[in-house]
Formats: sequence, structure tokens, C-alpha cells
Amino acid sequence: MFVMIGACRLELLQGDITRQQVNAVVNAANSELAGGGGVDGAIHRAGGPTLMSETRDKYPQGCPTGSAVATSAGLLPAKFVLHAVGPVWRGGQEGEPELLRSAFRTCLELAVEHHCDSVAFPAISTGVYGYPKDLAAEVALQTIHEFLLAHQQPQLVRMVLFDGGTYGAFARVLETMLA
Ligand code: ADP
Repeated sequence: MFVMIGACRLELLQGDITRQQVNAVVNAANSELAGGGGVDGAIHRAGGPTLMSETRDKYPQGCPTGSAVATSAGLLPAKFVLHAVGPVWRGGQEGEPELLRSAFRTCLELAVEHHCDSVAFPAISTGVYGYPKDLAAEVALQTIHEFLLAHQQPQLVRMVLFDGGTYGAFARVLETMLA
């Protein structure tokens, strides 16, 4: 499923983010940038060890929640990995929506700064971090929509949803945004 926002395309796809042929792949990292399971593990496995060594060299302090940092993409079919740190869900009253929004926004800003025409995001925070998928979908899609309206770039933003349930949650939110 996709929508056009001016000349930009916002796409939902069920699949594996490590297989995406895009300029920038977003990782759902932790604030230590220490690697982990889920999409983080998959990206580091597919990208190879240079991803971790570059991350350690460039960002020894890690990355605060709600922000993101860029490295090269190692063996992935992309130019950059944007390591974004989403919030852990603690019930929704601890700034989670703002932090998630800021993680998406920072990635979009970094993508533009690094001249990336295309960027793929996973559903940041919806795995181990426990953010409810429908609420995460609202924040993610609204943030992307707003950014594309305002900046008309990147040309392609693809949300890559790993399982059918997450894809469904994002598709329902996108449909209501269009209605
Ligand atoms: P977080 O700690 O931010 O919650 P997770 O990696 O646990 O990060 O999960 C984030 C989302 O990424 C979940 O929806 C999970 O199903 C999804 N995911 C896991 N592996 C992949 C993959 N290879 N490609 C795309 N999404 C993935």
C-alpha cells in the first residue's frame, strides 16, 4: 500500500528491512548503541562487523532516546544506517509519543542531510520496547506525512513491517489518515 504526498511516496511493505534497496536503512537501536536482538540484531548480522566498529568509534557515548545517528551501511544494500533510539513504552504518560516522533523526525532530517532519496524504517519501539502497534503507527505515519508535506523529500519513505499484525496496524492508520 502507498500514498503520494506531493511528489513523494510513503509506502507500507511487509518484509525484512535488511533486504531493502534504499539509500538509508533505519535501525531500532538502544541508547548504548550496543547491538541487541530484533531488528537491531538482524541489521548488524547483515551489515557485518564494520557497522559496530564504526558506531563505537564515532559515538562512544551512545545516542539519547528520541534521537538518531548515522553510520555507513557495511554489507547492506544501502549507503547509510540511521541508528534511531525509540522510547520504552511505560504506559504513555512519560513522553513516549514525543520521543518516538522525535526519533522518526531526526532520521528524516539525517536522510535529507546525507542526500538520501529513499529511506526504510522499521516499526521502531513496537518489539521489545512494547509500544502498542496502533499508537506507534499513528505517531510514525503522522510524523512522516508532516515531514514530507513540509520538505518534499526524501522521495521515498518505506515502512517495512516484519509481521502481518504490524502491517495491519499501520495499514488501518494510513487508511483513516486518508479518509
Ligand atoms: P524495539 O526495541 O525498538 O522495540 P525491536 O527490534 O524489538 O525494537 O522491534 C521493532 C520492530 O521491528 C518490531 O515490530 C519487530 O517485529 C520488527 N522487526 C524485527 N526484525 C525485523 C526485520 N528484519 N525487518 C523489519 N522489521 C523487523
